[in-house]
Amino acid sequence: TALVVAMDGPSGSGKSSASRGVARAMGLRYLDTGAMYRAITWWMLQRGVDLTDPAAIAAQVDEPSLVSGTDPDDPTVHVDGVDVAGPIRSQEVTGAVSLVAAVPEVRARLVAMQREIIGKGDIVVEGRDIGTVVAPDATLKVYLTASAEARALRRTAELNVEAGGPGGTTVEAQQAAMARRDTLDSTRKTDPLSMADGAVEVDTTALNLEEVIAEVLRLIGE
Ligand code: C5P
Repeated sequence: TALVVAMDGPSGSGKSSASRGVARAMGLRYLDTGAMYRAITWWMLQRGVDLTDPAAIAAQVDEPSLVSGTDPDDPTVHVDGVDVAGPIRSQEVTGAVSLVAAVPEVRARLVAMQREIIGKGDIVVEGRDIGTVVAPDATLKVYLTASAEARALRRTAELNVEAGGPGGTTVEAQQAAMARRDTLDSTRKTDPLSMADGAVEVDTTALNLEEVIAEVLRLIGE
């Protein structure tokens, strides 16, 4: 049977770096499900869809073609043939994605796509509902957490690296933005963020990336 590692947790818990590192270390595929929700959000924003109207979102959900890459060294996502890996990280998309991800029709489409990709073999899958909904029979379910302050510090550092210098944001602003997104993600009606039955919680507050990867590799080996 295939090795499926589910990596869930709130924003800034270090999921992406840890998931990619584990996939790389073991030669596994990697799927970033958050990138799929971001890609569909990017497309809806381009189209001018009213994101405060769930019915408007649902009516358009099947329109864009979506293709997710599974190479941990080159995580791509294409919308209608265009690689949107860069634009999906914009503040505009980050601020809107929770609204789109709350729409049941969006989740139905993306969960079906995710299951199809997972069905092709060994993989590390990163998201919010992988252990609870997408792959409840995963070999290992990890729930990554970190203090709100540690998560905001990491996200601010990432944004500064992306901007090639101080990225015009502050730790306080990031902490507020993350708290807002986490509240939306964990209180929505369809598949809210929560810890799966059988998941192992890994608190990354005091761990560096290598230590988180080592811990997940250890859990896989158990
Ligand atoms: O992980 P990332 O920050 O890229 O996720 C962006 C957003 O996509 C989350 O805030 C959440 O609203 C949504 N998401 C989700 N289910 C997933 C992955 C992401 O609802 N499995």
